[in-house]
Amino acid sequence: MKLSNKITVFTVIFTLFLMSCNSSKSKIATKNVDVKKTTNKPNILVILCDDLGYSDLGFNGSKDIPTPNLDALANNGTIFTSAYVAHPFCGPSRAALMTGLYPHKIGAQFNLPPNSGETIKKGISLEETFISKVLNNVGYQTGIIGKWHLGSNAEFHPNVRGFDDFFGFLGGGHNYFPEQYRKAYAQQEANGRKIIWDYLHPIEHNGKQIKETEYLTDAFSREAVRFIDDASKTEDPFFLYMSYNAPHTPLEAKEEDLKLFSHIKNKKRRTYAAMVYAVDRGVKRIVDELKESGQYENTLIVFFSDNGGKVKAGATNFPLKEGKGSAYEGGFRVPMFFHWPNVVPAGKKYDFNVSALDLYPTFARLAGAEIPEGKRLDGKNIWDNFLMNKNSHKDDNIYVMRHRNGYSDVAVRKNDWKAVKVYQQNWKLFNIGVDMAENNDVRKDHLDILKGLVGEAKDWSGTHLQPNWWHDEKTGIEWKKDNMPKFEVTFKIN
Ligand code: CA
Repeated sequence: MKLSNKITVFTVIFTLFLMSCNSSKSKIATKNVDVKKTTNKPNILVILCDDLGYSDLGFNGSKDIPTPNLDALANNGTIFTSAYVAHPFCGPSRAALMTGLYPHKIGAQFNLPPNSGETIKKGISLEETFISKVLNNVGYQTGIIGKWHLGSNAEFHPNVRGFDDFFGFLGGGHNYFPEQYRKAYAQQEANGRKIIWDYLHPIEHNGKQIKETEYLTDAFSREAVRFIDDASKTEDPFFLYMSYNAPHTPLEAKEEDLKLFSHIKNKKRRTYAAMVYAVDRGVKRIVDELKESGQYENTLIVFFSDNGGKVKAGATNFPLKEGKGSAYEGGFRVPMFFHWPNVVPAGKKYDFNVSALDLYPTFARLAGAEIPEGKRLDGKNIWDNFLMNKNSHKDDNIYVMRHRNGYSDVAVRKNDWKAVKVYQQNWKLFNIGVDMAENNDVRKDHLDILKGLVGEAKDWSGTHLQPNWWHDEKTGIEWKKDNMPKFEVTFKIN
């Protein structure tokens, strides 16, 4: 090749290089610098369901709700049989997932009230660094799709809490059929209502209102595919928090899905089943996209529910006692699995206790991210022990506390033991290892164990803050009037 030709070829290549740097894809060009740093980092996909029952999935024993796509992931991954969330209802459980802390420690032990952005303008303390931010800081592309529930005011918006991309709604729930909720919204607006029920608000994408047309669960699955497709075109790994609001109320399902469950007589159960089925259908789309975009092999999928199933809304938590809102197992022991081809053991069960609080430090470890200085965490990085089927929580306590009107329900689990106090009854003690249904109170035989656990739970309660909000005004007034949280009474053993 003549020198002039060489120069021409060089010039063309160099010009192309400059063009690539100046194009809108310049982010990618910069990212190439970091390729070495990021190549070994997995994508992390959290698929969270809302109020999903412990046994409402094929892989956890459901007979009447087929979930073939979730089952395939679960059966090719590891199923956790003893996984707990940090609170038995939505907002506080989600706050714990994002902060790695028991919600009581940050004043988030109640749900934010409906329309919080327009009423109390509060949200999770800005002093807490969310896991999304930690991952974003080390180059992860971060997305949340679906339900937020951690503050609707601008300063608490997902886009300022570490998420590059947010598609969904800010409140605690949402109606599912756009045609219907848009009409209801317009009606309330026409009636002059200043604050319109946030289950009817338009869906948004990064702060901009969207005119959604699809059944919400399908819309969220579609957006997950879009996010993964976009993210896969760059060199950076992604963190996607797929926060389905299904099967949380209102119970609304598509006709085509309802038809599949005509054998279920109870209408609530039938609708709930169809809603779970819609999630499962969405999971297939997400998995297909992971495969098509070449991300499947490098993605850790973590599936669980934010709290137990609501029995009155059609859920079952069998064999666990009670459901959403309870300190019995049905309230906060949830279905969960990990899936990651060739990394997470396939076809296994992991029976040791784990907590959703463990996910923050575990994700940070997988991403090679530093925990921010001074950041308090209530969970542990369980990754290495998990892979070796070892216990990360030997002799550790897993707590749950739910405040009611004038009293508190509380439970503490350590190894196989669990102490429970609910509905102002006496403390009970169960050996969960042999009695997961909590039928056989053994406190008489092991009073020393009960006293130890209750004492530790009392110490733990000393780390709690007063609530920053209550789910409604009445509860706040009663809290102050009753001088809640009444820990002296709560931790007394009669
Ligand atoms: Ca929930």
